[in-house]
Amino acid sequence: MPPKERIAYFYDDNLGEDCPVFENLFEFCQMYAGGTIDAARRLNHQLCDIAINWSGGLHHAKKSAASGFCYINDLVLGILELLKYHARVLYIDIDVHHGDGVEEAFYFTDRVMTVSFHKFGDMFFPGTGDVKDIGEREGKYYAINVPLKDGIDDASFTRLFKTIIAKVVETYLPGVIVLQCGADSLAGDRLGCFNLSIEGHSECVKFVKKFNLPLLVTGGGGYTKENVARCWTVETGVLLDADLPNEIPENEYIKYFAPDYTLKIPNGNMENLNSKSYLSTIKVQVLESLRCIQHAPGVQMQEVPPDFYIPEFDEDEQNPDERVDQHTTDKQIQRDDEYFEGDNDNDHNMEDGP
Ligand SMILES: [Zn+2]
Repeated sequence: MPPKERIAYFYDDNLGEDCPVFENLFEFCQMYAGGTIDAARRLNHQLCDIAINWSGGLHHAKKSAASGFCYINDLVLGILELLKYHARVLYIDIDVHHGDGVEEAFYFTDRVMTVSFHKFGDMFFPGTGDVKDIGEREGKYYAINVPLKDGIDDASFTRLFKTIIAKVVETYLPGVIVLQCGADSLAGDRLGCFNLSIEGHSECVKFVKKFNLPLLVTGGGGYTKENVARCWTVETGVLLDADLPNEIPENEYIKYFAPDYTLKIPNGNMENLNSKSYLSTIKVQVLESLRCIQHAPGVQMQEVPPDFYIPEFDEDEQNPDERVDQHTTDKQIQRDDEYFEGDNDNDHNMEDGP
């Protein structure tokens, strides 16, 4: 099917109002999903201990449907790549929304444990993620949902997070961790309803890093964009063990950070609707379910899909501050009406034929 009709077909069946088709949509998907797959590949080959893809983390996309601003589920693709080398992968999600796409992909397996902390109830998107949803068949007890109410603050969130994640790691013994750091759980997010400061949010990243396991970190949601940039900058610093000055240095986007031009943001003053007894009930239910799991399940012998092609040059060697200029980018753009190139080009074959 020609590309335009193919998009129209896909649009009718699988895209809702929150997943519009826009120009270069395919390239957009290719870039963020490729980033997460490559991050996984680097971890598999021990080219790094921590790999970050802030453009990834699109956790709502399903196998054959886009959902909630997510078109391709890069996290699922990255985890599949990690499963070639690791018996058990732990997925942690601190986006304000339930990580439904990732949970659904691995709901029937014990090789991936998914743990999602999210707002639940009041018809909040996507509507799934009840504490009672724990996985099925071989995956029973290997999906964990921590449903929360509006206004959760740093103290209650980080306490609950640390208790649950410490127990999960101790019980499940993952070989690698994938952490989705959606920044819509921050106070003041345009869509979110939690009350986390950047310090509270990044405290979770700091805690996960301390396990010293290979770690794949992605972005995710985040709709007050200057705070998203602040949050992921602070978290990059945390992952690099680098102390960053609170004052944002001069740069071409500095006007977005007015009037304070600082990295840290003050806490909001929302009411925390998560009572102590509610949080304690959730914690007990989650820990109870964790007690049911077999310690660190093993993997039967099975055929492992081949690795991706590994390029000879190392992108890490390139200067990250050097931007690719427009002229170079333009040279790589292909004409829309050219579908073939190289040895298998039909046009050439026709010319060469009898
Ligand atoms: Zn979100």
